[in-house]
Amino acid sequence: MAAEDTLAQIAKEVALCTNCQLHHSRKKAVPGEGPAHAEIMFIGEGPGFHENEQGRPFVGAAGKFLDQLLAQAGVTRADVWIGNVVKCRPPENRDPELEELSACDAFLERQIALLNPSIIVTLGRFSMGKFMPDVRISQVHGQMRRVDNRYVIAMYHPAAALHQAALKPAILADFAKLPELLKEARAGLGKSAPAQQAKEVRAEDPKQLNLF
Ligand code: URA
Repeated sequence: MAAEDTLAQIAKEVALCTNCQLHHSRKKAVPGEGPAHAEIMFIGEGPGFHENEQGRPFVGAAGKFLDQLLAQAGVTRADVWIGNVVKCRPPENRDPELEELSACDAFLERQIALLNPSIIVTLGRFSMGKFMPDVRISQVHGQMRRVDNRYVIAMYHPAAALHQAALKPAILADFAKLPELLKEARAGLGKSAPAQQAKEVRAEDPKQLNLF
């Protein structure tokens, strides 16, 4: 099966999933989205109100800020995969519970294995905790760490930076480092830049140059 088809198959399973209590209150599950060849995966916490309505990740206020942060790093959504550690909205946007996180983890693991990204950027403490338990985000944000066969960078959640102005300079600075960190990650993993893919994007839309 082509990687895109396997991603679509996982999305279908997510939409039908009843493995935790969140399926009772969800309107639409949010499996995550992005190309199967994405070199960077962004993993947030869980869908909020707008995501639950639309079935797409980061489409509310935090998503608009994420779009700005991506643009600053020279990327568009079309270049990256974006998802969450839980795929259904926790009621009233409460924190996800342990059983919900573990019920959803198998889907995320399959998505990660399929994409095999060079970098995973965790947005907020719940996704950070999956890869770097026992660290404080204030101490490690913006630093790249090797975790198994890839690199992980913890960043503040865009919603946190929207609500706490003091965090904004840090998230801006961390996103600005992404192009450089991607080069480092590729070197560390012995991968080269996806030249063919960049050429295809250029041919389609000169504004969407992959600047990495
Ligand atoms: N916050 C998240 O963590 N994920 C979303 O998809 C939207 C907001």
